Amino acid sequence: MSTGKIGVTTENIFPVIKKFLYSDHEIFLRELVANAIDATQKLKTLAAFGDFKGELGEMNVKVAIDKDKGTLTVSDHGIGMDAEDIDKYINQIAFSGAEEFLAKYKDTANSIIGHFGLGFYSAFMVSKKVVIRSLSYKEGAKAVQWECDGSPEYTLTEIDKADRGTDVILYIDDDDKQFLEQNRIDELLKKYCRFLPVPVISGKEQEWKDGKMVDTDKDRVINATEPLWTKKPADLTDEDYIRFYHELMPGNEDPMFWIHLNVDYPFNLTGILYFPKIKNNFDIRKNRIQLYCNQVYVTDQVEGVVPEFMTIMEGVIDSPDIPLNVSRSYLQADRQVKQISGYISKKVAEKLDTLFTEQPREFEKKWDDISIFITFGMLTDEKFYDAARKFYLVKDVEGKYFTLEDYRKLIEPEQTDKDGNVIYLYTTDPTAQYSYIKAVQEKGYSVLDMQGQLDGHLMQLLESKLDKTRFVRVDSDIPERLIVKKDAAQADLSPLEADILSGIFRACIPEVEHANFIVEYQALSPSDAPATVTQNEFMRRMKDMAAMQPGGGMFGDMPDSYAIVVNTAQPAVKKMLGEAVSALEGSVKPLRDDIDRLNTEISDARKAASEKKESVPAEVVSKENEVADLRNKKESLVDEWAKKQPVIGQIIDLALLQSNLLKGQSLSEFIRRSISLL
Ligand code: ADP
Repeated sequence: MSTGKIGVTTENIFPVIKKFLYSDHEIFLRELVANAIDATQKLKTLAAFGDFKGELGEMNVKVAIDKDKGTLTVSDHGIGMDAEDIDKYINQIAFSGAEEFLAKYKDTANSIIGHFGLGFYSAFMVSKKVVIRSLSYKEGAKAVQWECDGSPEYTLTEIDKADRGTDVILYIDDDDKQFLEQNRIDELLKKYCRFLPVPVISGKEQEWKDGKMVDTDKDRVINATEPLWTKKPADLTDEDYIRFYHELMPGNEDPMFWIHLNVDYPFNLTGILYFPKIKNNFDIRKNRIQLYCNQVYVTDQVEGVVPEFMTIMEGVIDSPDIPLNVSRSYLQADRQVKQISGYISKKVAEKLDTLFTEQPREFEKKWDDISIFITFGMLTDEKFYDAARKFYLVKDVEGKYFTLEDYRKLIEPEQTDKDGNVIYLYTTDPTAQYSYIKAVQEKGYSVLDMQGQLDGHLMQLLESKLDKTRFVRVDSDIPERLIVKKDAAQADLSPLEADILSGIFRACIPEVEHANFIVEYQALSPSDAPATVTQNEFMRRMKDMAAMQPGGGMFGDMPDSYAIVVNTAQPAVKKMLGEAVSALEGSVKPLRDDIDRLNTEISDARKAASEKKESVPAEVVSKENEVADLRNKKESLVDEWAKKQPVIGQIIDLALLQSNLLKGQSLSEFIRRSISLL
């Protein structure tokens, strides 16, 4: 027997491990099983090269609980270790400044463990004593036992051990009794070891007997040693992929499609990514991609490794090349990782392109479910945009799909404005904007359905990418002005008439919460509506975008601004205007004349003062006050008259009603007025 001190520079590394790695306690099992698998694989390799000529025998790894002794044992039949190996690999852990290092990286403790050869020592996170019993594969090797209670002292003894391989026996701490429960061990093995390449045995198969489940004599293998991603795509059927998906994601609907990744240059990567069925309400669950390193589960935090928009995919990625042992921010900056991310992005685009060209009908059927993902990709990944614009589909309100190119060809003849811009008309709510859609369709225009969560951003992107392209919502102007083909005929009104017309309409606009209105007039067709509510495209988009951002930004709190466009050619409007002019002309005209005169005097005086570099004379201020008074007077005259004309309110309310803006009290007032007008 020999004793010695473990070669760790920091006196007591174990308390440090325990303290800092607390939240990652459970990974000790992964580390020990991974070591056992390594030892097994190494022996298989030696045998394959003829360097080991003995019987391999049953090559599995066993995880066994002995509740009476309070131990958890991980056993393998791999290469084993002799005294020299133990000294080299277990005692001399080349690790300096452990405490300092762990303090610095405590958040990524999980990763550090493997990196610094602390894998085995993670056993001390849950054990008061650890014993290794091992027999090396080497001819004439003597079996040894190493024992350590968590202090830097250890003992090493020769023992009798008949079978080749290693047992690592953990005397579980009182605080960690959970690791003596088969259920808990099963849970961990399922998480970390379910796809390991060597059979891992734990517990027994169970059977139903005398009204309960009982253990049989048969060992239970907990892993699939050849998971689907390690096989050749040519050997697999759709059913295989779907079955594997359900194994990974129990309870999910069938996936929409999948991509089998397989590359060995310039990095090693295999995996299968599934595109899940997602409901349109953006209920995206992330962290559904599991990252493996040679079939050992590492993490499901794949940010950085997979392009962000693809984190809504589900599945597995296995790569020995991803630097797992570093912090996440480092991972994201890593060139290799960037390449991997780019590769995955490219593969996904290729797959979509194939689906689109080979099965266009199927692709259309899937489109509504996948469009949000593709949109997200186009918005966040330049290269993906370039690939995706070929198969990106837009849908019109009739439910027909078009590629971007085909759609442009379709609308170009009718929907190009006088400046050569192609105007894409769209709706965000086909029900609420129904009458606007109908009105533009009557003009022979096409309307796109843009209800998707990200469509606002997408339109912005397409406007910047496609030449001479503008997206305009159907209700952002009257149909005649949505696509301006020649300079529109101005309403044929004198300034006095225009003033009176705006005044009487402004007077009758009801209070609408969080909304501002301006009155515009235009001579449209006599058969068109007397008034229409429109909402400026630019302002509305700003607000929509702001609403999607946390906090809302400065646009978020602003009221919505609408225009009420009055059709001066409509008979009821025409008649009303005639009556208003004859009733108000006599009183409004002198007020207007006075205002005009005063305004001229004010601006002359201001100009003279500024030329002489003098301050503005006091009489200017009093004239300005006078103008304000006159304006108020004019406004109240117009108001008073307008309020007595139920038809004006009726015209406005009809327009508001059409755009869903008439609610609450205003709505009941409208109904009351409509009844009385009957
Ligand atoms: P790592 O596995 O990262 O090298 P570990 O601390 O887990 O670090 O293990 C150190 C070394 O101990 C391994 O590289 C291996 O040589 C040896 N070792 C650990 N467990 C076993 C085992 N079950 N059988 C044979 N050798 C082992």
